[in-house]
Amino acid sequence: MKILMVSAEVVPFAKTGGLADAVSALSIALEKLGHDVKIVMPRYYKIPRENLTLLEGPMGIPTGTGEAWTAVYTAKLPGSKNVSVYFIDHEQSFGRDGVYGTPQETDFSDNPERFSVLCHGAFQLCRKLQWEPDIIHAHDWSAALAPVLLKFNEKWVGFGRTASVLTIHNLGYQGNYSKSHYPSLGLNWDYYYATGFEDYDRINFLKAGLVSADMLTTVSPTYAREIQQSEYGFRMDGILRDRNDSLEGILNGVDTDIWNPSKDKKIPVNYTAKTIEKKIENKLALQERMGLEVNPDIPLFGIVTRLADQKGVAELFAPSYGCAYRMCTTMNMQLVVLGSGERWCEDELRNLQAKLPNLRCFIGYDDALSHLIEAGSDFFIMPSRYEPCGLNQMYSLLYGTLPIVRRTGGLADTVQNYDEKTGEGTGFILDNLTPDSIYDTVGWANYAWYNKRDHIEKMKKRAMAQKFGWNVSAEKYVEVYVKALSKQR
Ligand code: ADP
Repeated sequence: MKILMVSAEVVPFAKTGGLADAVSALSIALEKLGHDVKIVMPRYYKIPRENLTLLEGPMGIPTGTGEAWTAVYTAKLPGSKNVSVYFIDHEQSFGRDGVYGTPQETDFSDNPERFSVLCHGAFQLCRKLQWEPDIIHAHDWSAALAPVLLKFNEKWVGFGRTASVLTIHNLGYQGNYSKSHYPSLGLNWDYYYATGFEDYDRINFLKAGLVSADMLTTVSPTYAREIQQSEYGFRMDGILRDRNDSLEGILNGVDTDIWNPSKDKKIPVNYTAKTIEKKIENKLALQERMGLEVNPDIPLFGIVTRLADQKGVAELFAPSYGCAYRMCTTMNMQLVVLGSGERWCEDELRNLQAKLPNLRCFIGYDDALSHLIEAGSDFFIMPSRYEPCGLNQMYSLLYGTLPIVRRTGGLADTVQNYDEKTGEGTGFILDNLTPDSIYDTVGWANYAWYNKRDHIEKMKKRAMAQKFGWNVSAEKYVEVYVKALSKQR
């Protein structure tokens, strides 16, 4: 099958979130299954042209209000045999810092025009390469115009056999703008409602993609069900219920070249399930590094997170409300937190650290420390309000670090709850996101540590045996592509 991925971010060229990792890992896995995959993305100012190859000739991209004249560069996707990434080089749209915005201007005011250039450009690129894809696979709101253009314009002018798939990596970001931008999308006003763009008299990119794409996917089966309910649906639950038979949840995989305790170069001592006794060396190193009491017998709980409401940080750390202070003062445990994000939370963590000898935090982004926390902790706390897929709980399992998670999205799909009668399970699950329920579940894990160590040790090995490779997920995407193609008339 010929597949064109359309994405605003692709690792290693541009990344603001997990979507960038997923697009490149999925492309590589699909190539291994024998498919012909190409990727199109913008050439942001930060991507140096010197490392790319220029395609001959300019490429004109018709937008609703004129024509954007662009250059196209290409490079091989690192880690792949032959996946080509094509970069649309358009100074006016992408010749600046930031993918969607900058700290000063978090959402560029011309984002509708910029991502219209990307999506129209995807079709022009296929023409330029004389390559007709079977599938256009768009990722998140910034590429959601591509399925709309296919259905309402391009189908009649050369893409009659092409089907579209839209993957939702996070429903919270929809691309909602004034309808004064609509003419720049290159769609007739007659289609304003039919495309799904209309949203309370504004335009909504994701909504249009949800209405128009042949198939929809999101990044875990449970999240696919949850977003059809008003609680998790970000106002799109009605459309998603309506498109229920075209919506599937497929778990993201983990890059096991990077996240693998047997060969991770960022941790002091490598280990496997068979040599799990060596994991303790990482724990001692983590305790030492963070200035905690170096003691193998005290259970160490780790957290690596964006400090954002989605992650349950208010229930953990909010002054007088959160449970972290109570946990650390009433239980014999240690807590290590790595994170950055909301200012109040960063400040509060520093306050807690000043008061509690058994809580240590590092405020900032530190990849090496995140590996050490995964390897050195006994438990990992991740009580998200919602979680489309979540990576950290999967890393934790693979590192034999038992996750304590809320039963939502990808967390519910990847962690099995502890059964204290049989010792079965791979982690500890809470249902309600409240400080009390986090406290109780951490207490439950703490109790098991001191009283049921045999259970804990077996659970660690069971956790490490879990498989989260991309190959299984890629096969499921192929099934979705087949369904999308079968909808073509
Ligand atoms: P989300 O994408 O919603 O932030 P995930 O669990 O899916 O949550 O992925 C988060 C990724 O970012 C993980 O790889 C995690 O290790 C990493 N990460 C988050 N915050 C930090 C931090 N402060 N330092 C290092 N890595 C971090």
